[in-house]
Amino acid sequence: LVVLEKVNKYFGDLHVLQDIDLTVHRGEVVVVIGPSGGGKSTLCRSINRLEPIDDGKILVDGEALPAEGKQLARHRADVGMVFQSFNLFAHKTILQNVTLGPIKVRKVAKSTADKEALELLERVGIANQAEKYPAQLSGGQQQRAAIARALAMRPKVMLFDEPTSALDPEMVKEVLDVMTSLAGEGMTMIVVTHEMGFARRAANKVIFMADGQIVEENTPDEFFTNPRTDRAKDFLSKIL
Ligand code: ATP
Ligand code: MG
Repeated sequence: LVVLEKVNKYFGDLHVLQDIDLTVHRGEVVVVIGPSGGGKSTLCRSINRLEPIDDGKILVDGEALPAEGKQLARHRADVGMVFQSFNLFAHKTILQNVTLGPIKVRKVAKSTADKEALELLERVGIANQAEKYPAQLSGGQQQRAAIARALAMRPKVMLFDEPTSALDPEMVKEVLDVMTSLAGEGMTMIVVTHEMGFARRAANKVIFMADGQIVEENTPDEFFTNPRTDRAKDFLSKIL
């Protein structure tokens, strides 16, 4: 469903993505982990074309991401993204945050968008917060609203970039639970996270990324108990 072929990207002299090859099949959950500055966020952003790449190919559902314009907006709708900071529109209600994209990009009627949005908010457990503004919600609730907003575009794949690392510990679980159930429903997901429990529970594949390269690709069980590379061993010894 998502294919990267020989993707290269530079920030000036920094070769931040180096010959990245990655295939994510429909329904697969891929967890990306690795040291700070390794290029994990840049990888996510390039799949959504928030960052242009310098060389290589990125295909989503067989199609290359268009460079700009209306087509890009439509393709971006195929790739839902959830960030560390929730990025909700502060001056819109939770319901409006979720319906904005469907109304503008998918051209859904407001009444339909409202109905779909309430179902999604129900699914992430915050339907009772629909009329509130983001600042009136806890971090965990805001992040679940951000997930509902991304899902409202009916994406083919969801990207999560450290979705729980800005949350207080007691709110991490409620967000991971939503992600775990999404994974269980067959959503294709690419998740940057250091939440080992989630990786073991939900991931089909772990990608260890460092210095702009995919250093190791492994099953979660193997990766956490018996990593193949010294770089991964070293990293795991620091975080576990
Ligand atoms: P972290 O775990 O800290 O989030 P990361 O693996 O997500 O790290 P990236 O954010 O992808 O890493 O950054 C990779 C490298 O690219 C870093 O050295 C970073 O400083 C650099 N970088 C990221 N964005 C830019 C930018 N817009 N301009 C210049 N350099 C950048
Ligand atoms: Mg990052």
